[in-house]
Amino acid sequence: MTTKLDEKMVRNIVSNVLAQLGTGATPSSPSAPSAAPFTPKKKGCDCGGSCSVFPTADKACEAAADAFTQLQKAGVEGRRKIVNIIKKTCTEKQVEWGKFELAETKVGQLDAKIAKLVGIENIPGVEWLQPLGMSGDRGITMEENTPFGVIGAITPVTHSIPTIACNAINMIAAGNTLVVNAHPGGAKSAVLAVKEFNNRIHAELGFSNVITIIEEPSIESFNELCANEHIGLLCITGGPGVVDAAMKSGKRAICAGPGNPPVLVDESADINQAAADILLGASFDNNLLCIGEKQIFVVEKAYSSFIRAFEAVGAVKLGSNELQRLTKEVFTESKDAGGCSHAVLNRDLVGADAAVLAKRAGKTIAANTPLVYAETTLEHPFVMEEQMMPMIPVIRVPSVEEGVRQALISEHGYRHSSMIHTMNVAHMTLMARALDSTIFVKNGSCLAGLGIGGEGYPSFSIATTTGEGITTPMTFTRRRRCVLVDQLKIY
Ligand code: NAD
Repeated sequence: MTTKLDEKMVRNIVSNVLAQLGTGATPSSPSAPSAAPFTPKKKGCDCGGSCSVFPTADKACEAAADAFTQLQKAGVEGRRKIVNIIKKTCTEKQVEWGKFELAETKVGQLDAKIAKLVGIENIPGVEWLQPLGMSGDRGITMEENTPFGVIGAITPVTHSIPTIACNAINMIAAGNTLVVNAHPGGAKSAVLAVKEFNNRIHAELGFSNVITIIEEPSIESFNELCANEHIGLLCITGGPGVVDAAMKSGKRAICAGPGNPPVLVDESADINQAAADILLGASFDNNLLCIGEKQIFVVEKAYSSFIRAFEAVGAVKLGSNELQRLTKEVFTESKDAGGCSHAVLNRDLVGADAAVLAKRAGKTIAANTPLVYAETTLEHPFVMEEQMMPMIPVIRVPSVEEGVRQALISEHGYRHSSMIHTMNVAHMTLMARALDSTIFVKNGSCLAGLGIGGEGYPSFSIATTTGEGITTPMTFTRRRRCVLVDQLKIY
């Protein structure tokens, strides 16, 4: 399909570009003065904190579209300032916002909520936008990473403010503005953070609505957002339902979808280290992370020593009766359209403390117990469902090959994250190739996959479903080529 540009449209486009350059010239005045640097309109926000928060998706999109032109005028330096404002705000507000989000969402742990806000400091910024230059006998070509415009960001309840902060940094560094449709369960936290970011951005740069948010998000506001003409791209962070809905929306969607990460331990591993790493990853924020270890496969020869080491670092066992009782509390049976029954997760226990889960299982344990575990088989709902709580099933397997086979089944082809503890390189390669996951960690906790205890940078949106990987500013750019045909070589 081609779009025919008429004379009026061309004039409008040229006028807009000239306005952005700050020349004040029109297309009919070719002797335009040279571009003046962008100067902010005024300091301080007079909206009383209400701007950036909108009752409807359409209003939020309209405002973010206006802000996009302001952001263009502010240039890369303006983007850099905004990125720094968001990072600094998260650091300053870590305790206040951590407490607020925990109180609202009632999932996870305060120290993890705070740690996630502190980690925002390490999200990549404008320095990641490296152009590609080509020079030769026929001239000079540049490929630039340019913005889409306005992006629709759908965020989860598991990390409401951190996901917004991370998405905003990546998207704004790339020159975009964004409209957030948060999870209703974390919407108040999301609004609190967006207002604060907005006020600080307005105070320093003189314009609002680089990040806008729908005050009371719903499926209807999601649909309105997807249908809005200003939205050129969606970024989805959530489970299978929202990924499905986004893929059907007709808009391009970058989907950071669900995971169910398996970890495999063989007899060559440093068993004490493996136990400590798995405990760290699976208990962090009560196992809310999509990358968190959700089921452990241990080869027979290492099983007893692993269990000893696991208990030594703080994991507490649930016996078979206790497991049965907890399973009834955590899962209900449901039949799908085809009549097949499957387990449905009780959302009330997502992100609950291990001691709460133990109590539901009929066991009293210390309130600060990081993790409970139980021996199960592959088919158990705790293995096959993404439980997002600090109860981890352990499955005994006869060999690494069988462990990899079962790990693959448990991961459901999400290709999200997987881990192995082994000193055997062939075993590492076997699992890496079979699981084909976006993040694969060898001899470390899942957190190493996001730069905590391993090399690399973090992100709260790992685009597994659509394949972009751990999102960075580059993820939210359009690649454009600019060609100058001439003999301009200086050599
Ligand atoms: P969720 O799927 O319930 O909600 C995520 C977002 O989607 C929310 O804003 C919610 O309101 C919206 N939503 C849900 N169903 C929808 C539908 N049918 N139509 C429109 N919008 C809909 O997930 P959650 O409980 O908030 O978060 C946990 C899930 O997110 C887990 O599956 C986890 O693995 C995944 N997650 C993935 C990543 C990643 O980077 N890949 C990061 C965090 C969380």
